[in-house]
Amino acid sequence: MSVPTKSIIDTRRYQMFPTLEPAEIERVRRFGEVRSYRAGDALAKVGDKGHGLTIILDGKVDITQHDESGPRRLIVTQNRGEFIGELAQLAGQPALVDVYAQGPVEALIIPPERLRALLVAEADLGERIMRALILRRVGLLETGAGGPVIIGRAEDGDVLRLEGFLSRNGHPHQRLNPATDLEAKALIERFHVDPGELPIVLCPGGQLLRNPSENELARCIGLVGPIDPDHLYDAAVVGAGPAGLATAVYAASEGLSVLVLDRRSFGGQAGASARIENYLGFPTGISGMALMARAYNQAQKFGVEMAIPDEVKRLEIGSNPDNGKFVLTLSDNERVSARSVIIASGARYRRLNVKNLEAFESSSVHYWASPLEGKLCAGQEVALVGGGNSAGQAVVYLAGQVAKIWLLLRGGDIQASMSRYLVDRIAGLTNVEVVTHAEITALEGTDGTLEGIRWRQGALGKEIRRPVRHLFLFIGAEPNTDWLRGSGVTLDAKGFVLTGGNAASGRGPLETSRKGVFAIGDVRSSSVKRVAAAVGEGAQVVAALHAFLAPALPLQAVAAKH
Ligand SMILES: Cc1cc2nc3c(=O)[nH]c(=O)nc-3n(C[C@H](O)[C@H](O)[C@H](O)COP(=O)(O)OP(=O)(O)OC[C@H]3O[C@@H](n4cnc5c(N)ncnc54)[C@H](O)[C@@H]3O)c2cc1C
Repeated sequence: MSVPTKSIIDTRRYQMFPTLEPAEIERVRRFGEVRSYRAGDALAKVGDKGHGLTIILDGKVDITQHDESGPRRLIVTQNRGEFIGELAQLAGQPALVDVYAQGPVEALIIPPERLRALLVAEADLGERIMRALILRRVGLLETGAGGPVIIGRAEDGDVLRLEGFLSRNGHPHQRLNPATDLEAKALIERFHVDPGELPIVLCPGGQLLRNPSENELARCIGLVGPIDPDHLYDAAVVGAGPAGLATAVYAASEGLSVLVLDRRSFGGQAGASARIENYLGFPTGISGMALMARAYNQAQKFGVEMAIPDEVKRLEIGSNPDNGKFVLTLSDNERVSARSVIIASGARYRRLNVKNLEAFESSSVHYWASPLEGKLCAGQEVALVGGGNSAGQAVVYLAGQVAKIWLLLRGGDIQASMSRYLVDRIAGLTNVEVVTHAEITALEGTDGTLEGIRWRQGALGKEIRRPVRHLFLFIGAEPNTDWLRGSGVTLDAKGFVLTGGNAASGRGPLETSRKGVFAIGDVRSSSVKRVAAAVGEGAQVVAALHAFLAPALPLQAVAAKH
């Protein structure tokens, strides 16, 4: 008999929906303004931006989930002393739920920037509110409430791409199967969608997208908006991996205005790690996504602006390099101006040198092993190439989901490149078979679906074929530095960014050959490729930022920032 899993709303209700005491409400009144509503008025509607936190002073409100085909679903009713909001309110992003007054309501409205000030100024109360906002987002993620609806087959490469994008950005969504779901069929008919145009995405605001890019989807659901080209940020951080997020948190908490850009999602490579076991302070390990989501929320709490997904294509340096302004050009030709730039663009996965790899990359070849991929491969036979720690972690995670894993190593000794604890764990997994000196010789399949792979063990070994439908590649990384071409930032022979004395004389430890441009984390030449090292460099660079920016800032501002 299967045990029904309890939703987070059942298990953490008291933390998700706390009631503020009258004295607490009095303390936070200074952050907002009081507004009155009549019965039936909307306090917030899905897609509306910039609401902030709403504390009910009198009356009752219903929080409901918008449903395309049926009646509105009540999530919860909030009474006097309770508050409305979830994580989107921290950054002024669109509301994910509708809120209606049951009768006359009086409420204290705290806009996003004042909410962030409240969270910092009122430590204990701020912690309770922040926890509630996070748990509410988790609740929405569980149910998919308030997010876009993707209509397409689970194994379709574009569905995987869009679902992966939304999951990695911590955004709720639902997927409907066009073959079996009546609601999906109704929507396809209503919008006259040809089967060849699937997947389609229905945004909460009612817009329909046909197989959108990640950027189109992000704009439709309000994850990114236009950037003001006239605003001069103190620091523009390129990359929202652990290094970039650490800089963002420390710089913003010390008063600098910070914009973080990432072309994919927050978390970087660390976000792809099924379980990080060597990060200080987490003795039982933590999933990379959970660690990075905490950092992302923390950065938003301190007022960091996020432009995700937005790809930086070029860096231009102002005419006065000692005190100049830097301009970043984005893929859609938008421009960002900043007084300093932090290169935290990390590294990307190396691809396998097999001729038809690209044909299978959207649905059968994976560079991550998250629960999404785990579900996709459940009960099947898979192959994984790689001998480093990231490969080891993926094997340990996938072994619990799949029937069999072939771990293909180019070298002859797994211990040469993998930490001892992972080697030991893999040795204890009965469904993992390690093949040394292996080289993949062919990928077979049709219409982008892998049906089998062939490999040879040693140059003279015989070719082996297995009916593997999913291939995981963890074969190292190359630096993301293409966008620095023409910027004057010096790279080493492998394309990593040089810093300190290796870049130019008189440069600080994390400074590049261009003054005011810093490099941290995996993208930096000779860096230690670890989450903790990236976070450490992200924190360390903030002192260098202050030193560089101080002469450019008015004296009053400098005093306020320290
Ligand atoms: C599967 C896996 C498991 C791992 N497990 C561990 C572990 O257990 N312990 C550990 O210590 N380390 C682990 N690592 C290594 C660790 O994740 C990295 O060292 C760390 O993430 C580096 O952080 P970073 O911020 O420097 O760069 P990254 O994490 O690479 O982040 C860089 C970010 O920059 C963005 N970006 C790149 N170019 C651009 C551009 N032009 N415009 C905008 N954005 C851009 C990318 O999208 C990316 O999000 C693992 C790595 C992987 C892949």
